[in-house]
Amino acid sequence: MAKVIIIGAGGVGSVVAHKCAQLPEVFTDITLASRTVSKCEAIAASVLEKTGTQIKTAQIDADDVAALSDYLDAQKPFMVINVALPYQDLTIMDACLATGVHYLDTANYEPLDTAKFEYHWQWAYQDKFEQAGLTALLGSGFDPGATNVFTTYLKKHFFDTIESLDIIDVNGGNHGFAFATNFNPEINIREITADCRHYENGEVITTPAMSESREFTCPEGVGTYNIYRLYHEELESLNKNFPELKKLQFWMSFGDSYLKHLEVLQNVGMTGIEPVEFQGQQIVPIQFLAKLLPDPSTLGPRTKGKTCIGCLVKGTKDGAPKTYYCYQICDHEACFEEVGSQAISYTTGVPAMIGAKMLIEKHWLKPGVFNMEQNNPDPFMADLNQYGLPWQVIELDADFSLDS
Ligand code: NDP
Repeated sequence: MAKVIIIGAGGVGSVVAHKCAQLPEVFTDITLASRTVSKCEAIAASVLEKTGTQIKTAQIDADDVAALSDYLDAQKPFMVINVALPYQDLTIMDACLATGVHYLDTANYEPLDTAKFEYHWQWAYQDKFEQAGLTALLGSGFDPGATNVFTTYLKKHFFDTIESLDIIDVNGGNHGFAFATNFNPEINIREITADCRHYENGEVITTPAMSESREFTCPEGVGTYNIYRLYHEELESLNKNFPELKKLQFWMSFGDSYLKHLEVLQNVGMTGIEPVEFQGQQIVPIQFLAKLLPDPSTLGPRTKGKTCIGCLVKGTKDGAPKTYYCYQICDHEACFEEVGSQAISYTTGVPAMIGAKMLIEKHWLKPGVFNMEQNNPDPFMADLNQYGLPWQVIELDADFSLDS
């Protein structure tokens, strides 16, 4: 049905390649392109072994718009699935515009020198994509991604009005390292150490990172975890697209060892993003730290336990107050068994594949730049169930609250 180019051969790119290859009737021609072609080749070998599908590989520097445009022009894919780093979002969007190719990513653009996590750079492409008759689908991972769709789905099927949203991301997995990140260390640490922002009555409230925490018990025996309030990019688009929401917050679980190491690294300046002169060289502390930490794509064989990511929504139905929780539980070891990756890469890569499928099958194909929640949630939710991320909706006591 469609030719796709996946850009980025990291933990997430590997899962996207495996999952697309599992659906050869939809993804009829798959190329995995990245800066380091040997990583693409290793993933292609695994894809062939696990699925029997031969995918192509290519060396691409996605920071180079002209070279990427020439490449896309020669290949003429239907779309690019961008799972490189957020720094490449705009250059890839530019190359897609120049060559008439649809676009999808899993994380919003940020400039290298400021950890901002804001959509305005990409939303500014709205007119260009609309005029070109192309779709750009932003944030098609799990969070952002599935969490945005969960919110739309709950609103559509369970509520008349929604009033508050808490996105709760629990990783109950253990990889045995004292400190490691489950996806790109630089992006992960920039996200976690940024000031916390949440929304109340349309206003952005800023508080120190991790200064609010709660205890949350996940369903189905996944366990009870300390969750910490963070800023996460989907809050911005959900606040814009659901103006009726009075309060939007994002929470993530962290273990004590992770927090202890992060605090020390911050205190000594190792998480800084400003270059430091060292022995005649400019070194960015967080980039040096990322080099020392375990590569997230190597965590797969060591990680045991489950993730539980979901949306807790409060609102009303037929005049009565209601609380629903839509969640997805994913087992690290089962993911490794299926595609050779841990659950964080898996839960990101599967929605990226499904988002691409939504465009290819024309469920969500429309000119412009869109966040996930601006689409009909039903075909996406059905595909999550079918392709590895089954979810549940449960009703909680109407007065249930993370604060109670
Ligand atoms: P990795 O660091 O493991 O992989 C990134 C890949 O992108 C690497 O293969 C890297 O190449 C490649 N790359 C970097 N720069 C360029 C460039 N200029 N041109 C071409 N390729 C390049 O990251 P992850 O796989 O962990 O994460 C991928 C993306 O997924 C990130 O944007 C991350 O923020 C996002 N993400 C989204 C989540 C969600 O739920 N929405 C959750 C987790 C991650 P090289 O090997 O040469 O370094």
